[in-house]
Amino acid sequence: MDRLVRMTIDLEALYRDLHRHPELSFQETRTAGVITRHLSELGIEFEEGIGRTGVVAVIRNPSTHSGESGQGPVVWLRADMDALPVPEQTGLDYASTARGIDPAGNDVPVMHACGHDMHVTALLGALERLVATTDEWSGTVVAVFQPAEEYGAGSQAMIADGVLDRFPKPEIVLGQHVTPLPAGTIGVRSGTQMAASDGLTVTLLGRGGHGSRPHSTIDPVVMAAATVMRLQTIVSREVDPRDVAVVTVGSIHAGLKNNIIPAEAKLELSLRYPDDEARARVLDKVERIVRAEAQASGAEEAPVIVTDHTLPPTINDVHATARLVLAFDAAFGDGTVIDPGMFTGSEDVSWFAREAGVPLVFWFWGGVDPVAFAEATAAGTVERDIPTNHSPFFAPVIQPTLGRGVDALVVAAREFLGARAA
Ligand SMILES: [Zn+2]
Ligand SMILES: [Zn+2]
Repeated sequence: MDRLVRMTIDLEALYRDLHRHPELSFQETRTAGVITRHLSELGIEFEEGIGRTGVVAVIRNPSTHSGESGQGPVVWLRADMDALPVPEQTGLDYASTARGIDPAGNDVPVMHACGHDMHVTALLGALERLVATTDEWSGTVVAVFQPAEEYGAGSQAMIADGVLDRFPKPEIVLGQHVTPLPAGTIGVRSGTQMAASDGLTVTLLGRGGHGSRPHSTIDPVVMAAATVMRLQTIVSREVDPRDVAVVTVGSIHAGLKNNIIPAEAKLELSLRYPDDEARARVLDKVERIVRAEAQASGAEEAPVIVTDHTLPPTINDVHATARLVLAFDAAFGDGTVIDPGMFTGSEDVSWFAREAGVPLVFWFWGGVDPVAFAEATAAGTVERDIPTNHSPFFAPVIQPTLGRGVDALVVAAREFLGARAA
């Protein structure tokens, strides 16, 4: 990467354009169109409509060295494309005023509040750089522009659509996420980087009746209240204090009127854990408590527990992460890479690696003005003053965030691709 490479994409303009035109999960058609237009201009082969709105691009650059054949190391680079139903309040001149229709049919504001516009822009920038430097590396780069990460459904939709069979199979899957760290900083850790997560809907079945005659009913409101309280004891009383777990009841619905005891109550749970073993244990405890509280209430029908989505833990391969950290240090200088700890958020990127049985490395990179971050750190106000992903105020500074995002992908890809035979 020493020689000057002519860049044709105005990445900052592209980022502003994507930011201004966010699209909800599985509706990323304009975004996919922008991506495929740039891929065409770069002369990169691609297919669209993978997993509904996904795009997959392939750069084949086999070594010409005699004795070597095939496609060389195959490296997958993944960027997610979708935005969120959040009303943007950043005040930026490229802020979104877009609206969309959510799956329930509601007209909602839409914002790139998780930074996936930055991910798409950085990946296109990296592809441009890789295409311009094919005389320096060998192998195959597969760029996966994935829909619907925010539903935890996009990677599985692409897999169901045959992404692992229709394109060169990965030997490693790489991805990155912009986050509220100082711009320039890269955060990555070996092992569990992000939690596994399940979303459950629990329907508690009682027997409705008149509010004046509770003895003739089985009150699902009381059942729900007891269940919510007892679920809190999983983390406080049953999980080893040295382990991490989250049990959140994010939604509770029952009844329509004060003098009617309803027939059922619905709870929506968000559960998080660092690995598959912890997942099995916590799910078991949730089921035990939900059933036992229904029984304690005298329910005549067992509660119904439905899993709405499951996200595996995002586990960074130990050897590949160690290699990558050395590569980042060499490229960006010591002190650039930090261990951000495990995040209790979840990602669906690891389905690609899990399904293919190959290593994954997923890192975070900073998007906050380093001066603002240092000031907030000194004042002890980072939590209050630095907007996080999904906030209506989430606004990565375009530079040096974008430049570092492109460089990180190129450095990472080159680390796992082959060298060019002389
Ligand atoms: Zn998000
Ligand atoms: Zn995200």
